[in-house]
Amino acid sequence: MSNNILIIAEGRAEGLKKVAFELVNTAQQLAAALGGSVQGAVVGNNVGAWAETLAKTGVTKVFVADNAALEKFAPETYADALAQLVRVADPAIVLFGATGWGKEVSARTAAKLDWGLVTDCTSAHIQNGALVLARPIYSGKAIAHVRAKKLPVMVSIRPNIVPAVEANQAGAPIQNIPVTLKEPRARVVEQVVAAKSKVDLGEASIVVSGGRGVKGPEGFAPVQELADTLGGALGASRAAVDAGWIDYTHQVGQTGKTVAPKLYIAAGISGAIQHLAGMSSSKVIVAVNKDPDAPIFKIADYGIVGDLFTVLPALNEEIKKLG
Ligand SMILES: Cc1cc2nc3c(=O)[nH]c(=O)nc-3n(C[C@H](O)[C@H](O)[C@H](O)COP(=O)(O)OP(=O)(O)OC[C@H]3O[C@@H](n4cnc5c(N)ncnc54)[C@H](O)[C@@H]3O)c2cc1C
Repeated sequence: MSNNILIIAEGRAEGLKKVAFELVNTAQQLAAALGGSVQGAVVGNNVGAWAETLAKTGVTKVFVADNAALEKFAPETYADALAQLVRVADPAIVLFGATGWGKEVSARTAAKLDWGLVTDCTSAHIQNGALVLARPIYSGKAIAHVRAKKLPVMVSIRPNIVPAVEANQAGAPIQNIPVTLKEPRARVVEQVVAAKSKVDLGEASIVVSGGRGVKGPEGFAPVQELADTLGGALGASRAAVDAGWIDYTHQVGQTGKTVAPKLYIAAGISGAIQHLAGMSSSKVIVAVNKDPDAPIFKIADYGIVGDLFTVLPALNEEIKKLG
């Protein structure tokens, strides 16, 4: 086993996801303490362009498993390819993003290699030579500090926790790993792409969310308008999603997306623990609620007690004036 840190970069048709560049940042900090180097990996079909981008982020090498069998996402096949790639790379630590994709393939890859896996972490560092991870538990009410008993180990890290590195350096070498893949037991027969939101909620630096207080689908209009003015993404509480006022892809919380933007505005959201589980790592939280005793005010940096249908348009107007 080497001392190297291997990051598994996730991509989509439009290119690598932001979390891949964040993982390089985390890996660089770990490698500095562990004395190894940072390497990257991409898997898929025709993913040469992803590998070239990743090679410019400061990693020392990129491993690529490029295979026609990886054309459609099948967790079993991807984990198989990753396991073969990881065996060749022989790292001490493998980092995945704690995204839907990362969660699915990391567990399978770890099981195939019989490695440990620490999931959904918000920080990773080396302490007295051991890898120590922080993971929110009980819907974010407590933080567990987990020490890996031994290396190698796999870790998934939440998106939006550390800044993304730039892909602006000299390209590192790219090594192709030939992989042998079996026909998966479960095949993807069709992929239906959800209507694309203007800004990706999971990667947005500003999120404006509405809850049951918006009172209906049309009540999301002032929430969306403020999000648009700020160049942010539209979020929602589960109550609003369950009521059918907005699509599930906007749900923030324990059973929705975890976001950690620079600014999170919660309008008409009470602040249930399951909602906080998805947004409490936001840098600045602004709550708009007509109930001064709403629990959301306990974690808000700025609280506005008032009717969201008055407050949001007023905020929107003022922000527009700032240009
Ligand atoms: C297993 C499990 C998982 C869950 N997962 C999630 C999850 O992922 N995400 C999530 O959000 N919830 C989740 N929930 C549900 C959660 O417990 C709450 O029920 C939900 O978050 C409440 O949504 P809300 O704050 O929009 O609604 P409410 O709790 O009804 O709050 C509405 C708020 O709007 C305010 N309000 C009303 N009118 C106005 C107005 N005109 N202007 C300003 N304020 C107004 C009210 O004062 C109130 O505080 C989960 C629950 C369980 C049991």
